[in-house]
Amino acid sequence: MSSEDHSRLPYQLAMPADARNEIVVSPALPEDERIWVPQAENVWFRPLCLNVSSGYWVNLLRVRRAGVLSRHRHPNPVHGYVIKGKWHYLEHNWVATEGSYVYEPPGETHTLVVPDDVEEMITLFQVNGVMYYVDPWGRHQGYEDVFTKIDMCRRHYEQVGFPDDYLQQFIR
Ligand code: FE
Repeated sequence: MSSEDHSRLPYQLAMPADARNEIVVSPALPEDERIWVPQAENVWFRPLCLNVSSGYWVNLLRVRRAGVLSRHRHPNPVHGYVIKGKWHYLEHNWVATEGSYVYEPPGETHTLVVPDDVEEMITLFQVNGVMYYVDPWGRHQGYEDVFTKIDMCRRHYEQVGFPDDYLQQFIR
């Protein structure tokens, strides 16, 4: 018995009763154009995880226009992975190129720019808390949190005729 090989044996115990279900989105880059939620002219996002209990969201941001996208402050950290294209912040001299990982620390205020020679930019962002939109002097212009993201998704998916429970798969 003790010499039995258990290396391929699944975990034998129950998951914690309060644990939520995993999420697998495949493919994360959708084939159905209707999955992209319009955010602004030539800007869309694709929800992957909308975490209402921890207050964060994971999404793909797709931009098909050059220039300034937004200026915002992060009270909480952000993690990003550039899948396609490139972008930069007016406040820093680095460029987030295809394949880059970016960490945005709490306290950052920055202005996101997509360069003129980029036709399409796609970045995965995990955003904690809020995106707090400001003018160049830090004055409040608006905000987004996981709940406003969910509202946008719900309105859009209703409009394109997805089933009522479609969005539910991303919410934890
Ligand atoms: Fe940011």
